[in-house]
Amino acid sequence: MSFTLAIVGRPNVGKSTLFNRLVGKRLALVDDQPGVTRDLREGEARLGDLRFIVIDSAGLEEATDESLQGRMRRLTERAVEMADACLFLVDARAGILPSDEVFADILRRKNAHVILAANKSEGKAGESGYLEAFSLGLGEPIRLSGEHGEGMGELMDVLRPIS
Ligand code: GDP
Ligand code: MG
Repeated sequence: MSFTLAIVGRPNVGKSTLFNRLVGKRLALVDDQPGVTRDLREGEARLGDLRFIVIDSAGLEEATDESLQGRMRRLTERAVEMADACLFLVDARAGILPSDEVFADILRRKNAHVILAANKSEGKAGESGYLEAFSLGLGEPIRLSGEHGEGMGELMDVLRPIS
């Protein structure tokens, strides 16, 4: 595999849906390290002629003593450390929320290679959220719809230089 891509972002932006589209049934084995790794799913992604490892944050639904915010932060930092680049998803239909800013700050502080994507961009409902995403200061977002498979060509174009 040529590189590792972490899909990051707050809950419900569509990370797992996109992960499943990229990976299909090719789930990779994850080392059973205590703590964090069991909450990160790894898979072998295929996108056109590109092959890479993709990481999704899973297990956030389980109740623990740790706050969701703390857990997301810890998982995101770990995913960033494992990856060559991060695909930072925001929900173009919901617009930019304060928790999106929290994730943007984590990625900036970690000096991650960030690809910003306005997900759920199918149709017209995502247009204003797409424009809001510029305010994160992470460059020009790409428009994606993980559920409908839109924007995959553009995603390929931005990933190809990393591969
Ligand atoms: P995660 O919490 O970031 O992993 O998000 P999920 O992948 O579980 O998706 C959260 C919700 O958003 C689900 O109801 C999905 O069906 C929906 N969703 C995911 N991708 C898209 C998309 O591209 N467009 C729309 N409209 N909904 C989506
Ligand atoms: Mg998920």
